Amino acid sequence: MTATVQPLPDEPLAIRLLNTTWSGDTGEVDLLDERADLARWLASVDVAARATEEMRVALRAARSVIAAYAADPDETAARQALNALLEQGAITRTLGAGGEVVRSVTVDESRLPGWMAADDLLDIITNRPGRIRQCAHPRCVLWFLDTSRNASRRWCSMAGCGNRAKAQQHYRRHRHSNT
Ligand SMILES: [Zn+2]
Repeated sequence: MTATVQPLPDEPLAIRLLNTTWSGDTGEVDLLDERADLARWLASVDVAARATEEMRVALRAARSVIAAYAADPDETAARQALNALLEQGAITRTLGAGGEVVRSVTVDESRLPGWMAADDLLDIITNRPGRIRQCAHPRCVLWFLDTSRNASRRWCSMAGCGNRAKAQQHYRRHRHSNT
């Protein structure tokens, strides 16, 4: 079996977690289906933690929480679930000998990746409020962070869904003009 490569590898961690599942040509893909998949995914997002079954279950739960928030950021239940996820970890900041601020996280290892994704989501909400989007292509479920200047990005990728949509529009126009 060849390892499936996650799409949109440049997205931030919270969005990469959302994009661990999508519908491929051969059906539903889920990169968190098995422990081996989890180990690969952790390596691809540079999270140093040992993949365990407990972690896989916790990470899938975290993915659901973040997906619920992304789908409806104004929903109280989604916000509460996100806060419950964040409460699994705590950040301590201390001053190092060289005058640098050291940020350390206390969290159960099995919950580390999910918590990190939730923490990353807060950074996105702070720095790019309202910019988490799902691809406008009807058959694409991928998420992305819209970093365009005028908040106008619609597709997960211009090369993929953007082109497919343009081709379809062209086809429709073409067909129209012939009838
Ligand atoms: Zn797409």
